[in-house]
Amino acid sequence: MYKIAVIPGDGIGKEVMEATLNILEALNIDFEFIFADAGDECKEKTGVALPDETIEIVKKADACLFGAAGETAADVIVRLRQEMDLFANLRPVKSYPGTKSLFDDLDFMIVRENTEGMYIGDEDYIKDESGNITGATAKRVITRDASERICEYAFKYAKENNRKKVTGIHKANVLKKTDGLFKEVFYEVAEKYKSEGIESEDFYVDATAMYLLTRPKSFDVIVTTNLFGDILSDEGAGLVGGLGLIPSANIGEERALFEPVHGSAPDIAGKDLANPTAMILSAIMMLEYLGEKEAANAIDKAILKVLSESKTVTGDLSGKSTTIEMSEAIKEKIEF
Ligand code: ATP
Ligand code: MG
Repeated sequence: MYKIAVIPGDGIGKEVMEATLNILEALNIDFEFIFADAGDECKEKTGVALPDETIEIVKKADACLFGAAGETAADVIVRLRQEMDLFANLRPVKSYPGTKSLFDDLDFMIVRENTEGMYIGDEDYIKDESGNITGATAKRVITRDASERICEYAFKYAKENNRKKVTGIHKANVLKKTDGLFKEVFYEVAEKYKSEGIESEDFYVDATAMYLLTRPKSFDVIVTTNLFGDILSDEGAGLVGGLGLIPSANIGEERALFEPVHGSAPDIAGKDLANPTAMILSAIMMLEYLGEKEAANAIDKAILKVLSESKTVTGDLSGKSTTIEMSEAIKEKIEF
């Protein structure tokens, strides 16, 4: 029995969550869903966007499914990442037929370090003698421990998911100390996995921005630091069609949170128009994390069928179906 913390949140978060739970409940897996509040509506109701009670529920659960939060999204998700020590952010880049993907047959994973680097929030102003702001600085921290943890995660992920190669991304020619260290650690970890048949290579981040467009099929698993990972994973999202299709995972040593990349989409909220696929794919990532690979594959195949047929899909995919109709179609196509 798995205890799953469920935070539907705001806007279409609620709709895509309902559609996703509808599918999970059809599996032969014992789930206990524990609902928790967070986001804009929660703040209006209770005064806080992320109540302590929600944090407690999430900490006790085996995994957490998160829909979306509106204006409070950054606060809610950043706090959850800290509280749960979610050090790895996973964003798959996978193309599905019947979608506006720039390439067919793309299937690689971007693993982004989530706790340090450029996003530690250590910024300062530079002031002249009269106190006028003349500039600003941001500190970027790369540690051996965090680099090792994220590289280890990427290689282990590659090994467990039949991936053949891990590419480390950095800018060590300019950022000699910080990215020099990241690159060094990357190859230390790579060495351990050589005998397991996992290849390794490294590229500069600027070259990678180009390679993602010119030869994206050459990638298998990418591992990189916080800021570079943030940028490259959005570039990856641009390669495969549309926000309604892109899931993500935030993984820690003991906890994990799964959420679609899109937000609460107030423009289409409450109209049953949202594409549930990104949330369902996030749930698939959760199933993989829990070791339920068979169920994960079965749902993925069902999504593939529904998208290929393009018959029961939502408006963003040029269809006419509602959120629930599309999830029902996916559910019907699951073969056990
Ligand atoms: P938030 O402030 O919560 O991030 P947002 O206005 O930025 O909300 P997003 O959810 O990030 O909205 O999405 C941007 C646009 O993409 C939306 O306006 C919506 O039309 C479209 N979109 C996002 N997710 C989906 C989805 N699941 N299905 C269909 N369209 C979507
Ligand atoms: Mg947004």
